[in-house]
Amino acid sequence: MSHSENPAHPSPTPLDPNSLGVSTTAIHGGEARQKAHHALTDPIVCASTFSFANTQAVIDFIEQDQPRGEYGRYGNPSDMVVEQKLAAMEGAEDAILFSSGMAALVTLLMAKLSAGDEIVFFDQCYHRSREFCSKYLARYGVVTKQVKTGDYQAMADAVSPRTKMLVSESPTNPHLSVIDLEKFVGIGRQFGVETLIDATLATPYNLRPIAAGVDYVMHSATKYLGGHNDLLAGVVLGRASLLQDVRSLRGVLGGVNSPHNCYLLQRGLKTFELRMQRHNENGQRLAEFLASHPQVETVLYPGLPNHPDHELAKRTMRGFGGLVTFMLKDPDWRAAARVVDRCQLARIGPSLGGVETLIEQPYVMSYYKYSPEDRARFGIYDNMIRLACGVENAEDLIADLDQALRTD
Ligand SMILES: *Cc1c(COP(=O)(O)O)cnc(C)c1O
Repeated sequence: MSHSENPAHPSPTPLDPNSLGVSTTAIHGGEARQKAHHALTDPIVCASTFSFANTQAVIDFIEQDQPRGEYGRYGNPSDMVVEQKLAAMEGAEDAILFSSGMAALVTLLMAKLSAGDEIVFFDQCYHRSREFCSKYLARYGVVTKQVKTGDYQAMADAVSPRTKMLVSESPTNPHLSVIDLEKFVGIGRQFGVETLIDATLATPYNLRPIAAGVDYVMHSATKYLGGHNDLLAGVVLGRASLLQDVRSLRGVLGGVNSPHNCYLLQRGLKTFELRMQRHNENGQRLAEFLASHPQVETVLYPGLPNHPDHELAKRTMRGFGGLVTFMLKDPDWRAAARVVDRCQLARIGPSLGGVETLIEQPYVMSYYKYSPEDRARFGIYDNMIRLACGVENAEDLIADLDQALRTD
């Protein structure tokens, strides 16, 4: 029995879901008040298929489009709860959860693009996103035009009557450039073209692309949303009417997440705001430490006053995240490798956004097989190090980097 049915109490005043804080939404959003077995937490429903009482129940399900399980490739109860939680956190009408960030991006683009269509994207981006567009989408007759990140005129100039989508990350990985969403959305509206922002590095805590008018937001939920380096997930968010074909294609391609992973993601999200506050604090403190270090040439972090997008970032973001990219004065890749190898707390690995701090050299980790020309084109330098701050204590991370940078 809910409060409102209890005759002894007057009905409670409904809380406005739009006025709730980030943690309140992350903890309670999308969840039923009373759950199976009266458990406070949602169950992990390990079912690949869902049964029907009789033939009429099947027919009712189909005719009435009932919100219940049918077959695991179309979703499961855990994934539906997480989708509603993520939609509430992002301020989006709907969300679709995937088995990885790449499954989210690929399914979205495949659902929206046909042979002959074009997309325009800013050139600083996750290397697999670029690879999918230029190598695979090209085989299906979709043309990808890359323009210099932050060159809005070049983006507008690249739009043709065939352009279907404008794509960017913000901040970009690993360069931490921040996109002016007002300008980006403005170009989309001017030409009647949809816009997509991969906001993985920002998260809904630091950036609100939907409020800025972006049509689609995607995240690799493997990073800050999951937050514990123990799961892969991806999400696409936006208006419900625009996501129907994406959900149908997920059911065909099959990039749905498992009930166990959904549970881990739901659990991780409960502490999302607390973790983001620490990631933001650690990112800022490590960036400031590195910027003052004599061995360091440049630090790319939007929270630093000398970052080219600092004013824009300050105006449009709540914090600047845990990712800090820096270049050593020594141009030799071996000098950077030495720093990476000497770290004792920061572990060597790709990824970011989890509680454990990770460090890597993009040249070695992601671009080792690229030609020097392509690396130069994508702005990947031999002496570049990407530090993904976790939620450890900043003093300890600083001490670790300080000893790793020592040359005596
Ligand atoms: C990691 C990442 C992806 C890919 O997500 P997966 O969950 O690893 O598939 C896409 N975009 C950005 C910005 C990322 O950092």
